[in-house]
Amino acid sequence: MPVPLLDLRKQYAALRTEIDAALREVMESQRFILGPVVERFENNVRTYLGAKHAIGVASGSDALLLALMALGVGADDEVITTPFSFFATVGCIARLGARPVFVDIEEHGFNMCMTQLEHFLAKNAVVRRGETRNRKTRRRIKAIIPVHLYGQACDLAGLLKLAKEYDIPVIEDAAQAIGATFGGRRTGLFGAVGCFSFFPSKNLGGWGDGGLMTTQNTRLAEKLKMLRVHGSKRKYFHTYVGLNSRLDAIQAAVLNVKLTHLDAWTLARQQRADRYDRLLAEEGLGEFVTPPVRLPGRNHIFHQYVVRCARRDELKEHLKQRGIETEVYYPLPLHLQKCFKSLAYKKGAFPVAEKAAREVLALPMFPELEEDQQQEVVQGIRDFYRR
Ligand SMILES: *Cc1c(COP(=O)(O)O)cnc(C)c1O
Repeated sequence: MPVPLLDLRKQYAALRTEIDAALREVMESQRFILGPVVERFENNVRTYLGAKHAIGVASGSDALLLALMALGVGADDEVITTPFSFFATVGCIARLGARPVFVDIEEHGFNMCMTQLEHFLAKNAVVRRGETRNRKTRRRIKAIIPVHLYGQACDLAGLLKLAKEYDIPVIEDAAQAIGATFGGRRTGLFGAVGCFSFFPSKNLGGWGDGGLMTTQNTRLAEKLKMLRVHGSKRKYFHTYVGLNSRLDAIQAAVLNVKLTHLDAWTLARQQRADRYDRLLAEEGLGEFVTPPVRLPGRNHIFHQYVVRCARRDELKEHLKQRGIETEVYYPLPLHLQKCFKSLAYKKGAFPVAEKAAREVLALPMFPELEEDQQQEVVQGIRDFYRR
């Protein structure tokens, strides 16, 4: 039995009437960029997350870029982030001419290690006259971008304490974590700006690109809103040099419908994650496959169900032969990417991230995944290790 990594057709089949009606409204109005349907969506997300402001943009990547622009990050500034994420997390830093500075991930879980961050800051950061600088490079450290990878929040308590102590704003990359919580509060509300993506494969996915920024700060919200329309509030008068990055009404119409189902889907994902845990345990595969760690105080929303495993690439190929799709998020850590050669990070610089890149494998995960499909996946894994 073939098992896809993700199957969005089942979701559409279940929502066809609702989504088709919402799209028809946009077609009849012929208002495609921002407008009332987008505003309705921004309000709905605001309420869902408990955020003060929610601002729709063209993609999650743009959300990150705009957030950095709003904080005034520019050439030769430094921004601290994780080496183990999707490229967009670091691409936005480099695009502004700033320098990504990486801090390794934790051994358990896959997010930025706050002990390592503390060491880095204690060794390198100096706060003076309202500015934080790296004492070695003399550059300003302008932001920290943590990622809530695979749908589980990073240690936000530890992070915020350090961010406050060193006076560095936080931009949360919550692209994989809409609805995830830390200490009962939704991710995206902890930093200066929270960034979300509605790429079709995300837990809340549109029918194309889309993204959103949240903030609790009204002045920052004003600036972010201007930056998404070429830095202008009044048409043809420009306060900043911004982007053209708006959420379109077609996406908002689809997302308005899907948002009402998000919590039910999250629950379904969590049930499927528990079922994988149980099936793997029943097969006694513990020596080869480590299921994802659930960290205390968090609600993991399982954007991905990612195991660590022995002989990962061989296992992936074996499963592929049986029609089971899996994926590696991500095979090469960011500090070792060709485009960052000039940053001169060496192999071995972030051993925990490099080890994760060799071991991780994402198994099929979506709310409509059936029990027999999960059994098929786990039997495939068992047959590989026990043959
Ligand atoms: C998907 C994703 C992004 C970028 O979102 P897009 O909407 O695809 O531009 C950024 N960061 C992470 C961690 C992501 O998974």
